[in-house]
Amino acid sequence: MTTIFESIVKGEIPATILYQDELVTAFRDINPAAPTHVLIVPNRPIPTANDLTEEDEVTAGRMMRVAARIAADEGIAESGYRLIVNCNRDGGQEVYHLHMHLLGGRRLGPMVSRQT
Ligand code: 5GP
Repeated sequence: MTTIFESIVKGEIPATILYQDELVTAFRDINPAAPTHVLIVPNRPIPTANDLTEEDEVTAGRMMRVAARIAADEGIAESGYRLIVNCNRDGGQEVYHLHMHLLGGRRLGPMVSRQT
């Protein structure tokens, strides 16, 4: 099933795209949880982190390097930021096209809520 992120990668629906190459695309989250909230996705529609294969290792590494580069461009590399990949129900994944959240621009607080 095509997800909204696959449509963004293909340019079929609009997004604020910050970076795109042959492997990954980065665009601003539509509902930002911090002053900088960018999503970095593989162009190939990999559903979850569970579906990564050996042939995706370059893509996964590219996602992290692009995140760091965008953090520098956004001026948050030194103040700091958080990279998050949610997986499946307990991880809170909503869109089943693998994505890395880049969050920063303010103190983000505890990594995980201790509430159940
Ligand atoms: P998840 O919960 O799956 O880790 O994160 C999904 C993220 O995608 C959410 O932060 C949500 O705001 C973002 N999102 C959902 N639909 C769209 C969209 O159509 N465009 C953009 N740019 N972000 C979206």
